[in-house]
Amino acid sequence: MQKMTAPEPYARITPTADIRNSAHGGRAKCLQRLVRLDMPVPATVALPFGTVRKLAMGHAPDVPAILAEFGDGPLVSVRPSSEDPDWGGPGAILNIGMNQTRHAALTDELGQEAADTLYLRFIQTFAVHVARLDPDEFSTTRASASTIAQALKAFEDETDDLFPQDPVTQLTQVLRAMAQAWEGTTARLLRQAKGAPADAGLGLVVQEMAMGLGPGESGSGVIQFANSATGQRQIVGRYLSKGQGRASLTGGSAELFMTRDPRGPSLEERSPEAFAQLCALGDKARVRLREEMQIEFTIENGGLKVLDAVRIARNARAAVRIAVDLAQDGVIERDDALLRVQPRALTELLHKQVDPRGSRDRVALGIAASPGAAAGKVVFSSAAAQASAARGEACILVRRETTPEDIRGMHAAAGVLTERGGMTSHAAVIARGLGLPAVVGASGLVLNRRDKSFRVADGRVIREGDVITVDGTSGEALAGTVDMLEPALDDAFQALLEWAEDACDIGVRANADTPEDAKNARMFGADGIGLCRTEHMFFEEDRLTVMREMIFANTAQDRAAALEQLLPMQRVDFTRLFDIMQGSPVCIRLFDPPLHEFLPHDREGMRELATALDLPLSDVTRRIDALTEFNPMLGMRGVRLGITVPEIYDMQARAIFEATITAQRNGIIVVPEIMIPLVSAKREVELVKSRIDAVAAAVRTAEAAEFDYRLGVMVETPRAALRSGEIAHHASFLSFGTNDLTQMTYGLSRDDAGRFMGPYVQQEVFPEDPFHSLDVEGVGELLEIGSDRGRKTRPDVVLSVCGEHGGNPESIAFCRNAGFNYVSCSPFRVPIARLAAAHHALNDPNADM
Ligand code: PEP
Ligand code: MG
Repeated sequence: MQKMTAPEPYARITPTADIRNSAHGGRAKCLQRLVRLDMPVPATVALPFGTVRKLAMGHAPDVPAILAEFGDGPLVSVRPSSEDPDWGGPGAILNIGMNQTRHAALTDELGQEAADTLYLRFIQTFAVHVARLDPDEFSTTRASASTIAQALKAFEDETDDLFPQDPVTQLTQVLRAMAQAWEGTTARLLRQAKGAPADAGLGLVVQEMAMGLGPGESGSGVIQFANSATGQRQIVGRYLSKGQGRASLTGGSAELFMTRDPRGPSLEERSPEAFAQLCALGDKARVRLREEMQIEFTIENGGLKVLDAVRIARNARAAVRIAVDLAQDGVIERDDALLRVQPRALTELLHKQVDPRGSRDRVALGIAASPGAAAGKVVFSSAAAQASAARGEACILVRRETTPEDIRGMHAAAGVLTERGGMTSHAAVIARGLGLPAVVGASGLVLNRRDKSFRVADGRVIREGDVITVDGTSGEALAGTVDMLEPALDDAFQALLEWAEDACDIGVRANADTPEDAKNARMFGADGIGLCRTEHMFFEEDRLTVMREMIFANTAQDRAAALEQLLPMQRVDFTRLFDIMQGSPVCIRLFDPPLHEFLPHDREGMRELATALDLPLSDVTRRIDALTEFNPMLGMRGVRLGITVPEIYDMQARAIFEATITAQRNGIIVVPEIMIPLVSAKREVELVKSRIDAVAAAVRTAEAAEFDYRLGVMVETPRAALRSGEIAHHASFLSFGTNDLTQMTYGLSRDDAGRFMGPYVQQEVFPEDPFHSLDVEGVGELLEIGSDRGRKTRPDVVLSVCGEHGGNPESIAFCRNAGFNYVSCSPFRVPIARLAAAHHALNDPNADM
């Protein structure tokens, strides 16, 4: 690679000068581009990072020589130029060179008022931002001979020095003050928070002032050609006659609109030539700079000067629209458009969001478990949530934590708030799947279910029926309603998703349990269903009772009778999923949770169950006690249940195969994928496989039909990862369930992690919540071991992740590097995962594109 020479201590910006983004900053580089485009940019000199660094340490460059670049002593401005404009920098300082002599000359040239204004403004800016004097002493706005005299006197009193009259002294001090401001601790912390490296440099640009105050039409303004909130092509901006710098943006009444506007006069009417010229420059900048730019300009006696241009500020929605429009207009490549949108920013488009411009009255802060925002009346039970939905009233379900019994309540609620829980707790997982805003593990919230109220950290009590807003994007609950921004699943979003699909080289499937989820999965372009958690299908009211009958069955016959009732229901479930997915892969996980989750937890529920099953209450309580486990997440669940009560898996397999045949008869070719949960030993897979093969054979014979299916294993215990070499003999795919695998690797309950995750992350015990972003060192090593050993046995074994990490951009990078075939995540995270995967592929120099 060619070695870069060190830049000169300063350089006049000309088309051929050596100006680099990495040495002089983005503003300097952009100004050079404008100069190359032949835009009317006033004379400008750029100081590189090295010069500015030395300035901060007291070594000034040759300031007289810099000033000489501007010819016969004009006024100049200095602006910051950091490598990334988002890192900020000290504010611009204008009118350097203003002094008594210049004041007298300008009084003749521009008139008393303009000259006084310029001089007073410069004294004030210099005093406050360069000499760092008390702003209150320099706050007068009315410029006159006496206020100038007062300001000069105040300067002298405060500094024991006369206000500097020499332009070289003025410029030296301005440059040094701006260099030192960049080195200040607050400035450093602020820019580091925006991603700047610790040693980020600052460049400075010195530019001849375009006055904006002369005779004829003179003034300054900013113009842009796309709306910052929507990204739509639209001319927006402000212009202030007889104004300087960005004065037009301060919001006074004298500013003009850009285009004709019923609310007041416009630049288009006042100065049509300058306006037309600006529009032409805007088009040119868009095409040649390949970006939507905001142009800062000055008009001097009718003549246009372009002082600066910056990327227009934009929210996520506008970022998508602008990137797609630029690509569709052939200004940039599609790949470039993809890289210009941050995957996480898509969250803003997918869900309603709290309008960041509004005020917020926070009542609780917890884990931002499922993005988006919703307002509604507080309810404390699933039944109340359903009743509220039946009345057509939006509600927020507030629970200590949710259990599978709350699913219907969650379906009915607009948002969820829980006192306990972490990123993979029940409430979090279900809410993400439903696209429902949720805040979990809200610290300081004390629930009083009996009173139907909760108390928050500042002592306020929120009662049933009070309205709150759940902001699942920020992790806050807010009092009352707030302004919201609507989701934006528009054509630009769809186009971006399609391009991401073309660019990414790892599959993205959705975790989908219901027809609704499957429809969302298809809407967001998922490559199939990577995880259908079948247990969620058993919580429908009519099925729960049959399920309970099955659990309480005393004999094999009774159990078979209950399962016989569940069979057609499951068949319909799968038929619907196959129908919606239209031949895309569907991976169905056999029953996973402990049985007691289907049983009532309170006395009232037990009594109802006893009546429904026609059993004495004592029988019901005894059976429930018998099913209770000390640690149900590590007990009789997953394949352990499948082996001890094999009829459940038999029924599910039959339903899957019969639905497969129905789909085939409807013209949809399905090769169902059946997945066994919580495996830890090869023998478990052998036993389940032989039964499922037998069911398949029986269905083939009974229906006189042929079909294929694939059997796979969920790797979610550390032992399964370690033994995947032998497990893969019987599994055509391995899907890493990183929720359980994280829980078991850390020995950390996913439902309780929220209690201490905050302090743990703050004190850097964990770099991040491992339930949120894959722990690549520990759990990641198990993924690598598991996939390597699995592939060694069966080179074509299909590898995937279906835990919540499947929607996390950093975790997706890990899976891609490890050669996984796909990731699977909640439908609403599919677009984010897809774009993240596209970014990883586009940024990988070794990618086979
Ligand atoms: C997992 O454990 O990662 C998983 C996907 O299964 P569940 O979250 O249903 O336990
Ligand atoms: Mg699991």
